[in-house]
Amino acid sequence: MKTQLLEDAVLSEMNLNKQYGIFNGNMMMLLSDEDKSFVEKIQNICLEKEEEIGGTRGHNKLDVYDLFPWAGSHGLINRTNEYPHRDDLEIGLKPEILRQWTMDIFNPQLSMALGASVLAINPIAHHNEGKDPLVNDLKDLLDGKKIGCIGITEPLQGSDAVNMKVKAEKVDDRIVINGEKCYTTNSPKADICVVYAVYNPEDPRGTMVQGASHKDWATGFKAERIGIPSVNKLHIGKTIFTDSHIPTDYITGDNGAGYEILFEGLVPERIGIAAECVGNMWGAFTLASIYTTVRKQFGEKILRHQAVGMSVMAKYHARLTTATMALLKLAETYDAKKEELADIPPTMNPLVATSSHMKEYCSYLNHELCYELMHAMGGTGVTDQTKMPHYQGLSEISEVVGGTRNVQLLIGSRTINTMVKMA
Ligand SMILES: Cc1cc2nc3c(=O)[nH]c(=O)nc-3n(C[C@H](O)[C@H](O)[C@H](O)COP(=O)(O)OP(=O)(O)OC[C@H]3O[C@@H](n4cnc5c(N)ncnc54)[C@H](O)[C@@H]3O)c2cc1C
Repeated sequence: MKTQLLEDAVLSEMNLNKQYGIFNGNMMMLLSDEDKSFVEKIQNICLEKEEEIGGTRGHNKLDVYDLFPWAGSHGLINRTNEYPHRDDLEIGLKPEILRQWTMDIFNPQLSMALGASVLAINPIAHHNEGKDPLVNDLKDLLDGKKIGCIGITEPLQGSDAVNMKVKAEKVDDRIVINGEKCYTTNSPKADICVVYAVYNPEDPRGTMVQGASHKDWATGFKAERIGIPSVNKLHIGKTIFTDSHIPTDYITGDNGAGYEILFEGLVPERIGIAAECVGNMWGAFTLASIYTTVRKQFGEKILRHQAVGMSVMAKYHARLTTATMALLKLAETYDAKKEELADIPPTMNPLVATSSHMKEYCSYLNHELCYELMHAMGGTGVTDQTKMPHYQGLSEISEVVGGTRNVQLLIGSRTINTMVKMA
């Protein structure tokens, strides 16, 4: 923000503290006292940082990757995996979602960068048995000392990701990887890329491998940044593997096990993106509700004009509340049935379709809601005086990340077929 347009009385109301206050009011009947105090703890950490940064102006200038060590030191990178070396806060999908919502309202692009690192954390946390180097990677990623990314998508294999072409070859005590991944969130900034490759492109399911490649190894990965204007703080890259070596101790899944891990990762990834959309929408909604309540036109609060108050604000509040409740229910179910789910092969996980449905629904709503609420704030909505453009920017890419709408619907339609067959 170079020049202030809005009067102090309105602008000063649109702060993070007030946004969290509105969010908390909405959560009053949905969260337990324990959940509320967990959320409040994280909000206080973010509020302190907000003050240090200098509010929206600071977020506009920020390199979000500089905040990884700060987030890591407070245990704010991930709450679904146990920290092997320390612990401070609750673990589970519900705490993870609540952490995410708090961070999304604070800074949606930081939250997405952390989320992409979590996609590297998940497989390392679950497939490191007897491999100390991987446990060290896990600690560094959770602490925010290292940044992670996940390499699935390739230039020629987008929606059809399973039929990947990046090639792996076994050489002595390591695998050697050749090929390119693309759209890898964080890769130009990342230290570790958890990458998928295949020994035989004709049989990707039977020969898929997964391992952690390090950029600083002489034979590690390289990355070049791709320009994605709507999320201009994120470094999203083309990730290049040229005779890149992954030693045995860094392999998380070999000889087809990579395919199982790919599926294992998709459910939490899609729930995570759905949650990110909901957090982002709370960011947009809280800002727009402040603006439309404080700002007057034609002698009335904007909210009192029915075309805004009812047709936009109340309409999207209803949809957002419904999506919020659905995600909380999903998180509670997931946490309660975690052990039961662990015994089911990932490809048979009954939450595969549910997570796709949530991702498809929440990402579309995210885009629609942010567009509508941005315009409920008139000119202010499109300026850099508030975080609204950050929320709106994130909403532009959430439908494609983690698989497009049609891919989620394809999964949904196949599930209907299976359900009818099994009934
Ligand atoms: C900002 C951003 C961040 C990302 N981060 C990561 C990351 O960290 N790691 C990673 O591996 N990938 C990442 N991706 C990649 C993302 O998962 C892919 O872009 C996505 O899966 C779509 O692939 P594509 O872009 O090649 O589109 P395409 O596959 O070319 O699809 C184009 C269109 O065709 C439609 N389509 C394709 N197949 C079908 C079908 N069978 N039926 C009907 N319609 C179909 C799609 O729905 C879409 O509308 C990211 C992408 C973006 C934009």
